[in-house]
Amino acid sequence: MLSFHDTIVAPATPPGTSAIAVIRLSGGEAIAICQRLFRGKDLTRQPSHTVHYGSLRDGDELLDEVLVSVFKAPTSFTKENVVEISCHGSAFVVQKIIRSLLKHGARLAEPGEFTKRAFLNGQFDLAQAEAIADLIHSDSEATHRAALSQMRGGFSKQIANLRERLIDFASLIELELDFGEEDVEFANRADLKNLVLEIQAVVASLMESFRLGNVLKNGVPTVIAGKPNAGKSTLLNALLNEPKAIVSEIPGTTRDFIEDEIHIEGIRFRFIDTAGLRHTTDVVEAMGVARTREKLKQASLIIYLFDVNETSPQELEDELAEIRNLDIPYLLVGNKADKAAFPENKIVSFENAKPVLASILPISAATGLGMDELKQRLLQKVRVDDYRPTDTLITSIRHYDSLRLTHESLGRVLDGMATGITGDLMAMD
Ligand code: GDP
Repeated sequence: MLSFHDTIVAPATPPGTSAIAVIRLSGGEAIAICQRLFRGKDLTRQPSHTVHYGSLRDGDELLDEVLVSVFKAPTSFTKENVVEISCHGSAFVVQKIIRSLLKHGARLAEPGEFTKRAFLNGQFDLAQAEAIADLIHSDSEATHRAALSQMRGGFSKQIANLRERLIDFASLIELELDFGEEDVEFANRADLKNLVLEIQAVVASLMESFRLGNVLKNGVPTVIAGKPNAGKSTLLNALLNEPKAIVSEIPGTTRDFIEDEIHIEGIRFRFIDTAGLRHTTDVVEAMGVARTREKLKQASLIIYLFDVNETSPQELEDELAEIRNLDIPYLLVGNKADKAAFPENKIVSFENAKPVLASILPISAATGLGMDELKQRLLQKVRVDDYRPTDTLITSIRHYDSLRLTHESLGRVLDGMATGITGDLMAMD
């Protein structure tokens, strides 16, 4: 059994070579154990939040020259005594120091154990602990902002407030049960109904924010679909600003998926190039087409690309029928608008053909024409404009699921009130 009272140790920086590395200790004996190796001054007598220069020695052996930061309980990350040793950034040195600390009474920390202790000691709640993990892994402006706001407790506060008000009501209803015979109502039913409706609306809007929160955290899987030679590889290269996909004159050459990502105004779009949807007798290419259909189903956004010079409105309508069936947001993008025939080419007649075709965005993947507009339309499709930096965003599937269950329970309370169920059943929900 791992004891909560042990003093734990682990490297706080990733393995490898660096200028410095940090080793962290936490627990009642953290300062005392470090002192057994430290030469310089008596760390146990130093005030909290101070840094000390000295050397670490295990017996006669000099381990390293270090800086030691001392944080005393309860004003540390874990609310325990914490020591951070900044040593030279060699994996070998780090290992040697940790081995000596183990020998002198520390135990190796389990993964996440520092944060677990901070959580169990009441430093923050679970949502904030999760936000720390998100912050460490944030790789864009938007994920950084969402994680910081969650870590600082925005989401937790909002939930705690709703919860408190519900518990107040639940206790009033439970109190009524104690007076079962007397037919009293402490909890005003009209007020309760209003409260439940209000909370349900807040929960619903938090759930709705997950759509964007998930987009921010995991990126938008975006498929570029279209017939061979429409210019899909060229478009992908233009978006990525570097040649990766194979561009060729031979239809159907992009056989595999090339996944890459770009950030547009802090939103990550993960692009998936496809093999095209045309019917083929080539076995390898046929496999590519089958996988395209699979990939299409996983996409959150589809860019349907076609050659404006080669495609008739009827042909486009037919191609689109399949994509519409998937019920995934899509953009209609007409490529090769740079060609001489443009704008006298067929795209002009599209405008009058059918309303859906009027939304076509003409671009040239080769010359860059319309690329900025395309990026703006990608952003519009994920509706990032709806999001204000101060809004609470749900980015975790666990939170989303808890909110969903809450929404259901509240729905049962409302149903119960409508059908006049007894207080004990309502209190349970
Ligand atoms: P894919 O099969 O859909 O991936 O198409 P590719 O990206 O391989 O492009 C097919 C051909 O169309 C290549 O010869 C490209 O150079 C050409 N092409 C792609 N985009 C444009 C464009 O915007 N204008 C013109 N004129 N040619 C393009």
